Amino acid sequence: MVLADRVCKSFGAVHVLEGISLEVERGQVACLIGPSGSGKSTFLRCINHLERVDAGRLYVDGSLVGYAERGGKLHELHPREAAKQRRDIGMVFQHFNLFPHRTALANVVEAPVLVKKARRSEATERARDLLDRVGLADKADAYPAQLSGGQQQRVAIARALAMEPKLMLFDEPTSALDPELVGEVLSVMQNLAAGGMTMIVVTHEMGFAREVADQLVFMDGGVVVEAGAPRALLANPQHERTQAFLSKLL
Ligand code: ADP
Ligand code: MG
Repeated sequence: MVLADRVCKSFGAVHVLEGISLEVERGQVACLIGPSGSGKSTFLRCINHLERVDAGRLYVDGSLVGYAERGGKLHELHPREAAKQRRDIGMVFQHFNLFPHRTALANVVEAPVLVKKARRSEATERARDLLDRVGLADKADAYPAQLSGGQQQRVAIARALAMEPKLMLFDEPTSALDPELVGEVLSVMQNLAAGGMTMIVVTHEMGFAREVADQLVFMDGGVVVEAGAPRALLANPQHERTQAFLSKLL
């Protein structure tokens, strides 16, 4: 579902991604960990067309992200084509960014109606199902300010799912939450994974990584230092940098 082959990204003179190579199979969950500034968010943003890759190749579901390949040369995709690719990818951020003046239900209905031209009645029915799936059937008419952080984040997940993505990206989805609210969000993500969704999750929730992830990826300095099955990597990290990072985390 995702194939990164030596993906590079700089901001001016700052080389943030220095050749990320990574493969995530359809239906797999990959957890990304690494020190602050190691490029985790930038990598997710490249996958989701929020940043442009400078060098290397990045594919989602077999399509080159943001470019078309013609005669051995890369051409930037027309914005309309890029937007089409992007529709298949859902993203959940640390800060939920719900529309504050819309109810939970309206937040979930919005994108399919505007972007996918779904019929409002059908989008509404689907949105109710999604709110039910994230445990918020009774909060459909609540406004974001009336919801806890954990509930808002679950609405944000439902909103991303409303576009029927084939890939979900999570960038530290629980790190802005009070500790007692983290579990309810992780459990929604765990259910999503159990349903077969392909997910890339930046998180430092090692319990989640151990239980749910198929692959744990340690990034540092803009490269993948090591990746593998979570239990094996956590029990027996091969690189000194991984060991040092994990020892501070656990
Ligand atoms: P992480 O998510 O692992 O903490 P980021 O991907 O957010 O790391 O950032 C990696 C580096 O890239 C940081 O040094 C950050 O300052 C830099 N960076 C990220 N976005 C930009 C930008 N738009 N312009 C300049 N520098 C950026
Ligand atoms: Mg980040």
